[in-house]
Amino acid sequence: MVHFRTWPLGQQFRQLAAYLSQPINFGSRAVLVSSLLALTLVSMGKRLQLFETFEMLSFDLLTRLQIQESPDPRLLLVEVTEADLEAYGWPLSDQVIADIIAEVQRHEPTVVGLDLYRNTPQDMPGRAALAQAFEASNVIGIFNVGKQGKGIEVPAPPTWPADQLGFNDLVIDPDGVLRRNLLYVSAAEDPFFSFPLRVVLAYHRDLPFQVDRQNDLLRIGDAKFPALMPGDGGYARVDNRGYQVLLKYRTSYQTAPSLTITQVLAGAVPPDWVRGNIVLVGSTASSLKDEFFTPFSQDQSSQFVMAGVEMHAQSISQLLDAIAGEPALYQFLPQWGEFLWLLGWTLVAGVAGWAVRRPASLLVLSGSIVLGIWGLSGLALAQLVWVPTVEPIAAFLLALGLVLTQKALYRSSYDQLTMLPGRDMFLLQVQRALQHHPGTAVTVVFLDIDRFKLINQSFGHLMGDRVLKTIGQRLRQFLPTSAQLARVGGDEFAFLLPVHDQTTVDQWLGRLQTELSAPFSVARRRLSVTSSMGVAMAHRDHPPTAQDLLRDAHTAMYRAKALHEYRHEVFASTMHEEAVRRLELESHLLSAFENNEFLLHYQPIVCLQSGRIAGFEALVRWYRPEEGFVSPGQFIQVTEETGLIVHLGQWIFRAACTQLKAWQQQFPDQPLTMSINLSRRQFHQADLVIQFGDTLQELALVGNRVQLEITESMIMRDVDGAVDLMHRLKQLGLKLAIDDFGTGYSSLSYLHRFPTDTLKIDQSFVGRMDQSDDDREIVHTIITLGQKLNMDLVAEGIETETQLARLRAMGCRRGQGYLFSQPLGRDGATALLANPWPWAQASIPNGASTP
Ligand code: C2E
Ligand code: MG
Ligand code: MG
Repeated sequence: MVHFRTWPLGQQFRQLAAYLSQPINFGSRAVLVSSLLALTLVSMGKRLQLFETFEMLSFDLLTRLQIQESPDPRLLLVEVTEADLEAYGWPLSDQVIADIIAEVQRHEPTVVGLDLYRNTPQDMPGRAALAQAFEASNVIGIFNVGKQGKGIEVPAPPTWPADQLGFNDLVIDPDGVLRRNLLYVSAAEDPFFSFPLRVVLAYHRDLPFQVDRQNDLLRIGDAKFPALMPGDGGYARVDNRGYQVLLKYRTSYQTAPSLTITQVLAGAVPPDWVRGNIVLVGSTASSLKDEFFTPFSQDQSSQFVMAGVEMHAQSISQLLDAIAGEPALYQFLPQWGEFLWLLGWTLVAGVAGWAVRRPASLLVLSGSIVLGIWGLSGLALAQLVWVPTVEPIAAFLLALGLVLTQKALYRSSYDQLTMLPGRDMFLLQVQRALQHHPGTAVTVVFLDIDRFKLINQSFGHLMGDRVLKTIGQRLRQFLPTSAQLARVGGDEFAFLLPVHDQTTVDQWLGRLQTELSAPFSVARRRLSVTSSMGVAMAHRDHPPTAQDLLRDAHTAMYRAKALHEYRHEVFASTMHEEAVRRLELESHLLSAFENNEFLLHYQPIVCLQSGRIAGFEALVRWYRPEEGFVSPGQFIQVTEETGLIVHLGQWIFRAACTQLKAWQQQFPDQPLTMSINLSRRQFHQADLVIQFGDTLQELALVGNRVQLEITESMIMRDVDGAVDLMHRLKQLGLKLAIDDFGTGYSSLSYLHRFPTDTLKIDQSFVGRMDQSDDDREIVHTIITLGQKLNMDLVAEGIETETQLARLRAMGCRRGQGYLFSQPLGRDGATALLANPWPWAQASIPNGASTP
């Protein structure tokens, strides 16, 4: 959290900047920050009057929903209608007005309010009569405080007593609607009373009237009329000069019973409409344009425009109610109450945005909350409390938006399974560590779970997830918070280690290894997983980038894996070079195939009894234009890992078969075989048998002259599958040999199940035969085993005459090795066949021998 208590301002900004530059961290902090931010923005928006119009709209709508039409029986309107205008002319003469007042007075009203201006300057007949009417203290007149006509203000006739006059300043809201009621203005000496206030005070002559400046309110008897303040309800910056109250409309149209002046002058006034009541005389003829918009005007026809006298009737009615102790005055939340009202909703938004996961649920929930806010405001308004509606809705939606944005940012940088930061955030932390501790070493550890794929494959991904969670938890428990633990890949974690010397790192990671490998239960299964770790340290001499450090730790982790897993390795620069070389090799290999840089060499396989060439083993070579020959040991595995072997293997098979065919045609009297090595990946290739069959058919080659060499390890992985494949290959007529026999720890019990024809004794045993009795014994055993199983035997790597003699003596039928010949190019091998072969027994001519 940012603490704003510290001054000066610059420091606050620095703190804020530091906070904002931090990676997004989700949780209660995000909820709180979003809420407060939304609250601040909405409060500022209120000051800027952003919501006022909408608050008014909402106020009007809620008012319309709640209004109950009940004309006020304490009032009687005497209207000047269009028809009256025609009958009596306009303005009405003072005499007509005096007559109306006199007619009304006959029935003893408490107050007669004359809502007609009499401050027009012309001398009209009946002025004296009207002045006389004003001598009765229950007659109240109106005067205009605004500027009239061409800016000349005309006061009411001086003969009228000042305490029987009220002004008519109706205050209109910016949207043109009349919602307020200006009751009283206290200028320096003269107080000004509004017409309705004067009427009401005349009605309640016995009640004391008091202006309480200290508390900003008016008192009539026990009733208090607090003045409207800026910020009250939905108002933002209301012009609150004088004492205003919010108008409470009693009705939307018919405020009180009414008569026209024609009816009054005709003497048709029901006496009990007048007795003890207030009679208001005013014009309602629309041609006089003395009309106002009310909250009911919005979507209604023009009949909902109210004439000035009707507005005054509404106002008088409200004041009378208030004095009678009925609920008639609006109340507003105090500023702190409004603050809490907004804060509450922003917090609800924050929590909803954080906790609700499904967009549909969130949509429904936020929709209901928005309606709920509106409904609550409606309920409050029914109790005459005007709480803002639009502001809390805006604050709610804004806070929701802010939280969701933070959530999205958080999701993109945090891993949802382990709740750990992801790679990007980790890199940011490493970078920060590098910047903050220039000079000291920064130690990054990259951890990969050993054989995690196997867990996923055998127990399912759900189990895999549980394992990841457990490892995440254990790491969190073991490491200090400063370690900035992160999940940087599928089964990969990374962290900063707060130690910098090799011995301590070794100790730490040793302990961590033990901790992590402790068995645990997942879904009623006991499991123990180990992990391999790579360590990279940034040294002071040339600080690397965060990316470099993580990459180096990753490389070191790979070395740890290659060196038997369940260990850690510290990065050395050679590892990186090696990795780069490996990548280069991969990319070169890909183009090598396209550039025809592969070729085959052939090593003769010799019949040890006759010395004749029985066949060849095809061995692939890669000729790199700049570097010369590259041996298969350096690239076969890479082609397996990249998948290139599938094409390469196919090419090798075809090329070797083509060569065999060529030799068969060139040397028809030499029955040659061709041995071709198969790679592990090819062994799992679905269409292998079909491809080989097609090639043989195309070349019209008999399969039984071709022998495929398979290593033990390839078969032992999936014995049944291998046996099946071997049978299918045999159906093509192909021969099968087990290559490098003796090195693969294969179970001898399986051997008889494999439909193999030949065992190739690995060259390591042959090579050590001269020095070691054990190896001699092994070779002997393999030969005996082969003979027992009725298999052919080929000894690999024969380099000396002694080895040859021994093998012969043991009964080995065939062999290959440098003693006879290195693997040779096509021409070299052809030459061996074409020219006399020194190893063939001189007495027997090549062509006449039997294999
Ligand atoms: P391998 O199938 O056991 O091949 C015999 C290896 O022993 C060849 O090495 C050969 O040059 C070497 N060699 C032969 N005689 C002697 C000897 O007297 N002394 C010594 N020290 N070595 C001898 P190369 O050609 O480097 O091949 C290595 C391995 O690469 C092969 O072992 C085979 O597993 C693989 N390989 C070679 N060509 C292919 C191929 O076309 N396809 C596949 N899938 N693998 C191949
Ligand atoms: Mg081989
Ligand atoms: Mg071999």
